Amino acid sequence: MTIDLATGLALRRQQHLYRSRSVINGPQDVELQCNGKQLLSFCSNDYLGLANHPALIQSMQQGAERYGVGSGASHLVTGHSAAHHQLEEALAEFTQRPRALLFSSGYLANLGVISALATKRDTLHEDRLNHASLIDAARLSDATLRRYPHIDSDALNKRLAKQGDSNPFIITDGVFSMDGNIAPLPQLATAAASHNATLMVDDAHGIGVIGDHGRGAIEHFNLSLDDVPILVGTLGKAFGTFGAFVAGSDELIETLIQQARSYIYTTALPPAVAHATLTSLKLIETEAWRREHLQTLIKRFRDGAQQLGLNLMPSTTPIQPLIIGDSETALHISEQLQQQGVLISAIRPPTVPEGTARLRITFSASHTEAHIGQLLSALDSVDKHDAT
Ligand code: PMP
Repeated sequence: MTIDLATGLALRRQQHLYRSRSVINGPQDVELQCNGKQLLSFCSNDYLGLANHPALIQSMQQGAERYGVGSGASHLVTGHSAAHHQLEEALAEFTQRPRALLFSSGYLANLGVISALATKRDTLHEDRLNHASLIDAARLSDATLRRYPHIDSDALNKRLAKQGDSNPFIITDGVFSMDGNIAPLPQLATAAASHNATLMVDDAHGIGVIGDHGRGAIEHFNLSLDDVPILVGTLGKAFGTFGAFVAGSDELIETLIQQARSYIYTTALPPAVAHATLTSLKLIETEAWRREHLQTLIKRFRDGAQQLGLNLMPSTTPIQPLIIGDSETALHISEQLQQQGVLISAIRPPTVPEGTARLRITFSASHTEAHIGQLLSALDSVDKHDAT
């Protein structure tokens, strides 16, 4: 190999930006075995505690018996099973939209939608803190990417007024993955309406979690299909399974089936996963207590953290980050917490902006109030200079 990889890796280590994986033995749960050590985890996206739910395991088993393991082909060849089809219909009903289309992951959904719809003449206006997949999607498309200051709809309006592009898109996370705040969707929908723009919302962290019925940021703000014509949801987080979907008009879904390359040229997700996801959708719809319990945990945590003088962010969702600043300190605090049996990963640049390394604390409906107590006392005992 002619390229010098060793120097790049050494530099990463020196800058405390080296990434490594922990090995989890057993299922995803709030108490898990990580690198052989039993830990209390606050870092999964399994917000509703469904990833290891007995009913989901059972329907995954039933799905495997009925459909086998692999889908064997892409959706447009022979990979589109009755389980996928049924799930798409259920997701359309859940999101109160005419159609839904399954993708094999959220990353692929975002790549597929944006590169299929945006042309060379278009401008994509993206929130500066959008998820990497939305940024990568813009890069893959022929359109021009412009990033507006985080949640600043006034700045966005000014840009839209000045530019006057023929077909602008406004693209945002519904709940920001690393900050936990909810995007100002009503203001963005108004901006879209007054500048003839199309609003796309990636609600990976909102769907299942916020809104009285778990329909996400759209329900939280009571927005219509006209306000938000393109909605993306993922299944690997609150749903506890895997995959993603786009929900919208019949024309949108048909266009994606014709044109979204990350839909057309990839294997359909295993049908048993789609079958199990039907069960998680039922639990999302019928077990509102999971969302209510999350709100209790969030309040308990925020009250306790405030008493400890910790630097909280304005988040009402199960993503409750503590900003630390530099990567070395964030790593050091994360290690100290692990020594006390608490697992919280340090999130560093480029996942978050320079100087905002953080502990990304997330809650699951499987956590108890006693777990929050354990978390707070562990945070209290780490080096105060570092954590405030
Ligand atoms: N969008 C957002 C906002 C995300 O946080 C993520 C995953 N972290 C994705 C999309 C990608 O989803 P998936 O993991 O299903 O590829």
